[in-house]
Amino acid sequence: SPGLYIVATPIGNLADLSPRAADILTRADVVAVEDSRVTAGLLRHIGAKRPMVPYHDHNAEGVRPGLIARMATEAVALVSDAGTPLISDPGYKLVRDARAAGHLVVTIPGPCAAIAALTLAGLPTDRFLFAGFLPSKAKARSDAIAEIATVRATLILYESGPRLSACLSALAEGLGDRDAAVTREITKRYEEAVTGTLTTLAARYEDAPPKGEIVIVVAPPGEAPPPDAADADAALAEALTRLP
Ligand code: SAM
Repeated sequence: SPGLYIVATPIGNLADLSPRAADILTRADVVAVEDSRVTAGLLRHIGAKRPMVPYHDHNAEGVRPGLIARMATEAVALVSDAGTPLISDPGYKLVRDARAAGHLVVTIPGPCAAIAALTLAGLPTDRFLFAGFLPSKAKARSDAIAEIATVRATLILYESGPRLSACLSALAEGLGDRDAAVTREITKRYEEAVTGTLTTLAARYEDAPPKGEIVIVVAPPGEAPPPDAADADAALAEALTRLP
């Protein structure tokens, strides 16, 4: 049927493309893409040859009305280069306007680096805050960290290799030295999850910025440390000696 289809694509391993995603991408009238070279590779992999329209941060305003108009009679699939569209990627305004125009809006869920990283980190999953990419400039970054420092949730952040160590140091400074995980190259050959405190991880990567794609996962703020039982006993004994 005509409308907008939001299609998640693999974040590394092509076998993660769902049969439903492949079906939609094979039958869509047009595929809105971030980078046509990247999506051409995916379409080739499934033997699909569909027309593509670039839809990215720099042209979205201009292209959106035309895509919305086409949804009246055509199936428009939205993909990003990897993972779930709209997650640190363009698309939410397309969804908003498609729905406002009364078009069908359907999601085909699938891989998302943030969620995949959370499952690898071994940190609490009951509450989490996805913070996307922090600003790269130091002042803006520390301001952004201060904003989320008291949130009682596991934090999930996207970062690049060259900035990783500085980002981990800034997180340690702004959040305290919490436990964290650096996950890298998820679903690819060199997938790994390295755990440690923020300062040990910052030191580890300082002179060896890792290659590939990275997600940082940070533990929630700790409970106030329980009073040490031995100290409490001593304090009580001491207080008792001073009772009249
Ligand atoms: N929409 C995508 C998603 O669903 O995850 C995210 C797009 S965002 C522009 C790209 C960032 O996602 C990368 O810089 C990296 O932080 C993270 N990322 C994407 N693929 C990854 C992978 N295979 N392993 C680790 N991180 C990945």
